[in-house]
Amino acid sequence: MNKIDHKSFDNTEIAFAYLSNSELKNAYRIFKGMSYPALVNIGSKLTLLSLKLHLPIKPILKNTVYKHFCGGETLAEVKQVVSKLEKFGINVILNFGVEGKHSEEEFDKTAKSLHKTLEYAIHNKNIDTIACKPSGLISHELLEKITSGSELNEEEKKSYDRGVERVRGLVKRAYENKICVHLDAEETWIQGAIDDLALELSIEFNKDFPTVINGIQLYLKDKLEFLKKSYQHAVDNKYIAAVKLVRGAYMEKERARAEELGYPSPICEDKKATDANYNAGLKYCVDNIDVFHLSNATHNEYSCLYLAKLMKEKGLPNDHPKIVSSQLKGMSDNITFIMAKAGYNVQKYVPYGPVKQVIPYLIRRAQENTSVEGQTGREMELIIKEMKRRKLM
Ligand SMILES: Cc1cc2nc3c(=O)[nH]c(=O)nc-3n(C[C@H](O)[C@H](O)[C@H](O)COP(=O)(O)OP(=O)(O)OC[C@H]3O[C@@H](n4cnc5c(N)ncnc54)[C@H](O)[C@@H]3O)c2cc1C
Repeated sequence: MNKIDHKSFDNTEIAFAYLSNSELKNAYRIFKGMSYPALVNIGSKLTLLSLKLHLPIKPILKNTVYKHFCGGETLAEVKQVVSKLEKFGINVILNFGVEGKHSEEEFDKTAKSLHKTLEYAIHNKNIDTIACKPSGLISHELLEKITSGSELNEEEKKSYDRGVERVRGLVKRAYENKICVHLDAEETWIQGAIDDLALELSIEFNKDFPTVINGIQLYLKDKLEFLKKSYQHAVDNKYIAAVKLVRGAYMEKERARAEELGYPSPICEDKKATDANYNAGLKYCVDNIDVFHLSNATHNEYSCLYLAKLMKEKGLPNDHPKIVSSQLKGMSDNITFIMAKAGYNVQKYVPYGPVKQVIPYLIRRAQENTSVEGQTGREMELIIKEMKRRKLM
């Protein structure tokens, strides 16, 4: 199989070959639960409260939601997941999933964990990318000030420079060892500073290898324009424009803030407009693939088929070294495993870290799967199909 069409993604035998019967049943229970928004809402609140009260819920989480969406608490646990994915030709984007840090001490600690993650990737041939949330290394407040154009005082400048050095140190080590670093895209009110930093680091570290991969959220009205600017910046400075295209994960938050502060929402007016923007982004990158390195980070089946079509039209091979598609662990296995089988470069984004600290990520996944129109329904449809095929129901 080296061609994909809209029917390919229905092949559950390939999609779930890597899941045992008990893992498949676990996936069924999770997506069934997530199909009830009220349950997700109450469940998220109860989880946070139980952790605060030190109630022993860790074993329950670890064997259910955590197991489905995460790689493990330690790198030793992650190893099993990585090896399993390798057998199916799937590469890993490893992410130390701890979020929401605020003090210099915490930023240093996160930097240390990211370096540990990077060293692990360097020594594991099936992990060629690590993910980094810039706000985990630089103060959110300062990123916001820079994005809004405010001046920093001396103390703030020093703190900001320390943050930049944390990111730079990580990227430098990654560059020396040919590992890519996804700089995750975050909220618009801090993203201006992150984009500037990504472009600056790209001049230094993307000359001959796509080290810095900048996240671009196409649910934002102005990001197609930014993609074109990134292209021009790369041409002018002679480096590889490495981008991770995503639709974007902070839609409700963005809209709520815009409404509260009385400015026009930066988000496309509807899902159709976001989809059109995203697919136009894919086309722009494929049309200019001599300059770009494209990471198509989506669970949208149409976008993946569209990318395959664009590549075919250009005469690019499925395994073109500058084009990769990626999905989160626990989601859209039908896309990941079927594209891998058809010879496309694919990656799974695997977060790891202590159960308690990965909770915000898990809650986002649960909420996303209730709010994303049709996604849970699609996952359930495929899981049920495979359970029936295996005579489990
Ligand atoms: C490997 C990987 C890395 C990622 N990294 C990031 C990151 O760095 N930053 C980040 O923000 N997200 C990131 N995401 C998440 C991503 O942005 C999406 O939220 C998520 O993947 C769902 O979108 P989709 O393209 O998969 O598919 P779909 O299910 O087709 O699209 C859902 C998305 O469409 C948009 N949307 C939905 N309804 C509307 C509406 N009414 N109006 C306008 N737009 C709408 C939203 O962005 C929503 O998330 C990443 C995803 C993957 C797979």
